[in-house]
Amino acid sequence: MSRISIPEYAMALAHVASMRSEDPYRKVGAAALDFDNRVIGTAYNGLAPGFNAPPGFWDDREARQKFMLHAEVNLCSLFRRGEAKIIATTTMPCTACMQTLCAYGIKEIYYRDIYHASDAPEIARLYSVKLEQVEFTPFDGTVGPVA
Ligand SMILES: [Zn+2]
Repeated sequence: MSRISIPEYAMALAHVASMRSEDPYRKVGAAALDFDNRVIGTAYNGLAPGFNAPPGFWDDREARQKFMLHAEVNLCSLFRRGEAKIIATTTMPCTACMQTLCAYGIKEIYYRDIYHASDAPEIARLYSVKLEQVEFTPFDGTVGPVA
């Protein structure tokens, strides 16, 4: 295997982070790199830290949605505005997360899976933020332990 690019490197980290998501419906991971391509951190979508879901919590796909903290929001809790340059996320940021990433001064955003309900492309154009698809998945592409 040849050397992977920086966006692929970030996406690989995001993919690994997504494997930690406890959401049975949508597992999203994200990674942040600084201006020297050093890893700031990784995050995934989930419930607030320390909160343990009561039995049945995950049964209702719609009801759970408003409680989920998106991977990008969790990621932004790891740095201050201007510290991160590159974000990779396994799913295109939703509109609210795209707004948040813009507020944090992110310059380049790479996503793997398209999210059609998102206004992220339009927001990226307006604010001149690079938003690009990176179709890179480490391992064999499955989310879960690799044999
Ligand atoms: Zn979001």
